Amino acid sequence: MSAYSQEIKDAIRTVANWPEDGVMFRDIMPLLQNRSVFRKLIDSFVHRYQDQQLDAIAAIDARGFILGAPLAYELGLSLVPVRKKGKLPFKTVTQSYDLEYGSATIELHTDAFKPGDRVLVMDDLIATGGTMLAACELVRQLQAEVVEVAAIIDLPDLKGSEKLRNAGFDVYAICEFD
Ligand code: AMP
Repeated sequence: MSAYSQEIKDAIRTVANWPEDGVMFRDIMPLLQNRSVFRKLIDSFVHRYQDQQLDAIAAIDARGFILGAPLAYELGLSLVPVRKKGKLPFKTVTQSYDLEYGSATIELHTDAFKPGDRVLVMDDLIATGGTMLAACELVRQLQAEVVEVAAIIDLPDLKGSEKLRNAGFDVYAICEFD
């Protein structure tokens, strides 16, 4: 792991048994509060994606917004928030996916992309991969292309990144937690 990846990983706080017993919650708030590490984080995504001819970032509700907005601004791209059900005012496409208990639904406006747009899908963390996969399905429903799926953190034991790769998506994460 590179020095900057280690510095980013070290700035993430683990909160055991939150929001429920058995979950090791990876909290990026200390990373965001650390201005030098936050800058390195965004700069590392800028470096990776500046020559990818992207059109837009699909940023997942809610921590994906925090990453997607500065990256879209810096790279001169469109910012497309992927929202939880019931938040978008215009016509939407929707995708439901399974959670550990129950299910969730995310949405995009039908005019979020033009056909053929090159899109980066972003969130803070990949666990089971269900959220990212549902977001990718939405991008595809609008005939746009998912160039890559990006996160700060991957939890490889939960096999989400593997599931995304098996579904044909390129996946990038800065660091991993067991
Ligand atoms: P999944 O759909 O299972 O990949 O879950 C990913 C989404 O849930 C992301 O939006 C994460 O912010 C959140 N999430 C899941 N597990 C954790 C965790 N252990 N720590 C922090 N956030 C998590």
